[in-house]
Amino acid sequence: MDAMSKEIPQRLAHGLLPGDWQELCRDLDMPGYRADQIWKGLYQQRISSFQELSTLPADLRAHLDEAVQADPVRLTHVDGKPPGTRKLLLELEDADAVETVLIAAQGRRTVCLSTQAGCKFGCVFCASGQAGFKRNLQAGEIVGQLVAAAREFGDTPTHVVFMGIGEPFDNYDALLTSIRIMNDHDGLNIGARRITISTVGVVPGIERLCTENMQIELSVSLHASNDEARSEIMPINRRYPIDTLVRACAAYTEVSNRIVTFEYTLICGVNDSPECAEELTARLGGFACRVNLIRLNPIDEYEGEACSEATVKMFIDLLHRRGINATYRDSRGRHVNAACGQLRLRAAQNSMHALPEKMTT
Ligand code: SF4
Repeated sequence: MDAMSKEIPQRLAHGLLPGDWQELCRDLDMPGYRADQIWKGLYQQRISSFQELSTLPADLRAHLDEAVQADPVRLTHVDGKPPGTRKLLLELEDADAVETVLIAAQGRRTVCLSTQAGCKFGCVFCASGQAGFKRNLQAGEIVGQLVAAAREFGDTPTHVVFMGIGEPFDNYDALLTSIRIMNDHDGLNIGARRITISTVGVVPGIERLCTENMQIELSVSLHASNDEARSEIMPINRRYPIDTLVRACAAYTEVSNRIVTFEYTLICGVNDSPECAEELTARLGGFACRVNLIRLNPIDEYEGEACSEATVKMFIDLLHRRGINATYRDSRGRHVNAACGQLRLRAAQNSMHALPEKMTT
């Protein structure tokens, strides 16, 4: 059997690291520069088939077509138009779907990526949490979203936020592999400081990130100032309460030198009182961090309501008076069904895909 006809299990092109491509070419008795050509084709030319790489020998292209899937995510729908926020619905090989949001603003091209099909964390204000968990995405499907976004932008994105469907730290290995692929200088070249992981507060994930020696930005969904209120809206809090979470974040700042952002969605009558602002100040006053206030983006599945602009002002003023670095962010995706998971839910309701059963954590 010659090297070209060796059996290799089919893998996803966007999930392979540069070293994996070198190894694959070595196994096929191909010189190392072929791996570089493939890498540049995937991330600079953004090919969707190896047949587009005319610089490769025909037999290598044919072998790659057999052994590696060049483009595992398929764009099926775009909501929104440039220059505004766009939401891409991408179908996976097993016919499940993920969402990717593109935001072009202030010279940045930001892509919001999903790490799981569905989510098991059940935050009450989130449509993805209502729909339940299907499966983890592979690294190739995570990076594949970024490549699809680059095609839609017509350029390489400048920033990545892991704020789409799913909890990134619940799919840690695929998350870190995808970040290493995005980081590569000859590929997408997105530096660690331009990548933000948004977590619901999975403390072991934050602790593992402390050991990676990467300066990734960390954003934590806090959304309440005490454990009782937080456990009501975010079941994860029963496993990792606020003080444990804040301690892990402080440790991350210590090793990475990055300022952690705490996301706090103001929900009318739930977490938007002056007492809540005081309590939040007491919890976070001990270390350098940032609070990002957001008004609730209402979804049909949750009865919570957005608070008034006056309440936002009262809350942020109080945080500022207590020395907390706080900002208010309007939800840019509001006009494109932006509550996490809504586009996927709508697609499911239109019978494109059966929804998994609801799960709780
Ligand atoms: S907010 Fe994030 S962690 Fe919570 S249910 Fe939605 S996708 Fe899952």
